Amino acid sequence: MAPNKGIFKLGAMSRQQQAVERARKAFRTGRSKQIEYRITQLKSLQRFLVERNQDICDALKKDLNKSEIGTPLYETMGLEGEIMLAVRKLKDWAAPRPVEKSLLTLSDQVFIQPEPLGVVLIIGAWNYPWAVTLQPLIGAIAAGNAAVVKPSEVSAHTAKELYPVVTGGVPETQELLRQRFDHIFYTGNPAVGKLVMEAAARHLTPVILELGGKSPCYIDKDCDITIALQAGHLGKFTNCGQTCIAPDYILCEPSIQDRVLEEIGKCVKEFYTDDPKACEDYGRMINQRHFKRVMALTEDSTIAVGGENDESQCYIAPTVLRDVRPDSKVMQEEIFGPVLPIVTVSGVDEAISFINAREKPLALYIFSKDKKLIRHVISETSSGGVLANDCLVHYSVSSLPFGGVGNSGMGCYHGKHSFDQLSHLRGCLIKSLGMEGANSMRYPPHTAKKLSW
Ligand code: NAD
Repeated sequence: MAPNKGIFKLGAMSRQQQAVERARKAFRTGRSKQIEYRITQLKSLQRFLVERNQDICDALKKDLNKSEIGTPLYETMGLEGEIMLAVRKLKDWAAPRPVEKSLLTLSDQVFIQPEPLGVVLIIGAWNYPWAVTLQPLIGAIAAGNAAVVKPSEVSAHTAKELYPVVTGGVPETQELLRQRFDHIFYTGNPAVGKLVMEAAARHLTPVILELGGKSPCYIDKDCDITIALQAGHLGKFTNCGQTCIAPDYILCEPSIQDRVLEEIGKCVKEFYTDDPKACEDYGRMINQRHFKRVMALTEDSTIAVGGENDESQCYIAPTVLRDVRPDSKVMQEEIFGPVLPIVTVSGVDEAISFINAREKPLALYIFSKDKKLIRHVISETSSGGVLANDCLVHYSVSSLPFGGVGNSGMGCYHGKHSFDQLSHLRGCLIKSLGMEGANSMRYPPHTAKKLSW
């Protein structure tokens, strides 16, 4: 509920209440309803990304050891693409959308009018702190909303730079969640997702939850194994494994496990040299808590590649575990680090059963030359998104909805999907006044004579 000014004086408001109040006041002026205003805001955001590029790179270097090239590649280029798309398409997206009519409404205007929701709260995670915070903001602005942005406190250097923001940790986020919003867009882990949804329920606020989970990667014996492992390697070890759609584990037949290991070993050298620790393109775990968490996950499995680590630098080498048992520690939670377990299965049907016996993942990867097999896996499983013969790239296709299902989230975004999800799609009907003759049959008394016209 917006604070009642009679009870809460501005001075007595928390920082969070003040931010929400300011955003609501700005929204009520109606400025953001104008398309031109939204386009100006989007272009300012784009300018900001260009002008502050060096600051963004510096912050990400400190937070995650991201390289100067990795930052535009994985954080800002996608944002700029989304902004350009929204600027180009906004007039179409925001225009009334005529819909099919029934016999009774043939001469009426029947359409869907997208309208802004109000104030959107965006809570971001730390792993791609710019992408996961600003991408929803682009959708919120395009849809004509005001927004309060809460970046993750974990990526502290990045949080300082974001605008407009309410910074802080758990207590600050909890205080923010007590406020009334018109939409909440949360990116992070499923446990906190449940808390967000609980808080949203108190105000009947709709939510989009972009969560994570264990995304499987099935490698068929009939695939181009070099391509599979290069792509899989990229998906897993980019950002030191801290990617929501990173392949979490590999499923393959025992007969190809050694080849898979050999190819991964080759990729590690090719991508990150003999000494990944010294390689500019290889990241770090975000902090020691996550370093310890990931190292502990390897304890009861056999390390086949990597395993070197250095706590003082939050460094874990690209690591692969072989013959991993489904009940081992590493298979009990999302790894979110550079550790890749291989679980062997007898074939595609066992892989499907394995996937279906667990929570619905955010992404599912299949590597195979057999198109029928790929379609079979798609039709027999469920996941937020699915990608065959590559990793991560579906994230960059703005026309595809990006989001989870079940435990990996609800709602979706990117491109027009962000616009639609952060708008109210209002059903509108403007009755034509020239059809009273036909209309009169609806009114009582309902006589047979009226219906026989
Ligand atoms: P995090 O710890 O930064 O938490 C995310 C946000 O929730 C932060 O802003 C934090 O302040 C807030 N928060 C944390 N605990 C809270 C609490 N008890 N009450 C209220 N707010 C709280 O990030 P994380 O959860 O460690 O991020 C990693 C997870 O995010 C992984 O599961 C990953 O898969 C997922 N993720 C998903 C996507 C996606 O697009 N689906 C993208 C990135 C990350």
